[in-house]
Amino acid sequence: MAPRGEFRVSVTKDYLVFASAHFITFAGHRCEGLHGHNYRASVTIEGALNEQAWFVFDFVELKRIMRRLCDEIDHLVLLPLTSDRVQVAEDGDTVTVGVDGTPRYVFPRKDCALLPIPNTTVEMLARMLTERLQAALTAEGASGLTAIEMEVEENFGQSATYRLTL
Ligand SMILES: [Zn+2]
Repeated sequence: MAPRGEFRVSVTKDYLVFASAHFITFAGHRCEGLHGHNYRASVTIEGALNEQAWFVFDFVELKRIMRRLCDEIDHLVLLPLTSDRVQVAEDGDTVTVGVDGTPRYVFPRKDCALLPIPNTTVEMLARMLTERLQAALTAEGASGLTAIEMEVEENFGQSATYRLTL
């Protein structure tokens, strides 16, 4: 009888860095000023062994996909598109950002990442990266995966983890 253990494969933080600007809104009327982090991501995928290759998923491919997802938001201002409180409007080559209806910033469009999330917390970034990774893995024809776990750290020792069971 075959052993019944399970496998997890990980690609960790030192390889997956993105340096981005953001601000988050809090409950009530509090809102941070614009600032930046050297974010670091770490991903674990779980699943059945590919019986031809004896791996869960090719590391080279996983690293390439994750590097691309990090590059998409690297060196940009991260802005939430589904916030109740932050208004993001594209106007030609510029993006105007308001908070609670008060204009606050104008950025060049090319320096912004407009993200389908309600707040640019590490929790929401982790969930967004998980969903983007899942779509990329599906497009690559990955099969037998059972879970994706994504950690995004914004400062040393300060991170959020999202786990998606497939
Ligand atoms: Zn921050």
